[in-house]
Amino acid sequence: TPVTTFAGRTVALFGLGGSGLVTALALKAGGAHVVACDDNPAKMAEAAAKGIETADLRQADWSRFSSFILSPGVPLTHPEPHWSAKLAKAAGVEIIGDIELFCREWAKIAPNAPFVAITGTNGKSTTTALVSHILREAGRDVQMGGNIGTAILSLEPPSDRRIHVIECSSFQIDLAPSLAPSIGVLLNISPDHLDRHGTIENYAAIKERLVAKAEKAVIGVDDDISRASIGRLPGGKPEVVRVGLTDHDPGSVYAQGDVIVSRLGDAPVEVARLAGIGSLRGDHNAQNATAAVAVALLSGVDAETIQGAVRTFPGLPHRMEEVARRGETLFINDSKATNADSTEKALKSFDDILWILGGKSKEGGIKDLQPYFPKIRKAYLIGAASDEFAATLGDTVPYEMCGTLDRAVEQAARDAAARDDETVVLLSPACASYDQYPNFEIRGNHFRDLVKALPGINPTMG
Ligand code: ADP
Repeated sequence: TPVTTFAGRTVALFGLGGSGLVTALALKAGGAHVVACDDNPAKMAEAAAKGIETADLRQADWSRFSSFILSPGVPLTHPEPHWSAKLAKAAGVEIIGDIELFCREWAKIAPNAPFVAITGTNGKSTTTALVSHILREAGRDVQMGGNIGTAILSLEPPSDRRIHVIECSSFQIDLAPSLAPSIGVLLNISPDHLDRHGTIENYAAIKERLVAKAEKAVIGVDDDISRASIGRLPGGKPEVVRVGLTDHDPGSVYAQGDVIVSRLGDAPVEVARLAGIGSLRGDHNAQNATAAVAVALLSGVDAETIQGAVRTFPGLPHRMEEVARRGETLFINDSKATNADSTEKALKSFDDILWILGGKSKEGGIKDLQPYFPKIRKAYLIGAASDEFAATLGDTVPYEMCGTLDRAVEQAARDAAARDDETVVLLSPACASYDQYPNFEIRGNHFRDLVKALPGINPTMG
């Protein structure tokens, strides 16, 4: 999407990693003059090679710039603003992000094009992927991107025949003052990410902005903070659909057991069944599914198409991903679970678990997971957290110090083969990966490769 709304103007940009370079090129293609900066000289060189002017913005004359485009990875407020944000503020230059650029372009070239924006503390990517999958199965031209991975400005431009489905982090919302989607989704709010946003009130207020300005709002009601945001919406607009497990009144789409029910019409209608759908196990995924189903219904997709699409949803890699099956053993890659909260979702979803965990532990370790220890047949410890976790497991769970993932998979697979019952070999580390891997994706890919190399493996996916 070339950004034409800045044609003829000079803008500054900081942060060339991730979506930064795509954004600079989109601005340039639309006729803006971009001056870009990054702490990493290699990123600067890459941008320069693509014809973008690079400069040290510390030395720049900020009165030249009509806007400042900041990467969402760079602090705007908490714990304190990045130096570039301070300079922009001092010079009275607006600070915005790539989603804002998209919104201005959208308002200019296709204001009636449908645009779904999705936020929440947890479940954003799963919901974004599921919404996109359902709409695609319904024959729509879907452009999916944002925080889920594809930079919004590398997508096809908005048009009335296309629908954009965009995942937004709170950092991106903070940098997008004119974000006013046709359908806004707020899944849940929990006191996470406060390191970057200060207080929970501030964090909630940023997330609420996405639904407050939407034409239609889909709001999760299973947690108090998200539910309370409904009462703070402006009067009249938006039209609200409440989603989750707890509210079964008219105006809701809810999950009860394995069934998703719509109360958007006169009578309750069963829209989908989640039983046996491996990519949507657990209450948290039922919550995500209610939000996705609500978006699909609001977009005019019929219940039959929704049910068919939900059944074929492949799920996202590294989030309770089914890697393979061997006899009675299911191998699950939950490498995305980098903290105890996320791992709890996985432990809740399975019984008879051979649990591979460890890495660089977070505060509190796995103490909060003790209620699930009775489900663990054995634990296989890897990485830096091994001693700490061994102490928490204590005498209640048998464990083995494996050191590496290679050894853990080998041991767990051997133990699984010796069992008669349905068993799950679960990588759900409750830890960051960076003591042994560059990121959780590479850790998860390694697990997948190790499992697929085991004798007698029957891949369930791909
Ligand atoms: P996000 O994009 O918000 O990080 P994902 O869809 O990638 O969320 O899911 C990441 C992890 O968050 C999952 O593996 C699961 O542990 C947890 N999770 C997913 N959906 C929810 C939810 N609705 N509520 C609570 N936790 C969730």
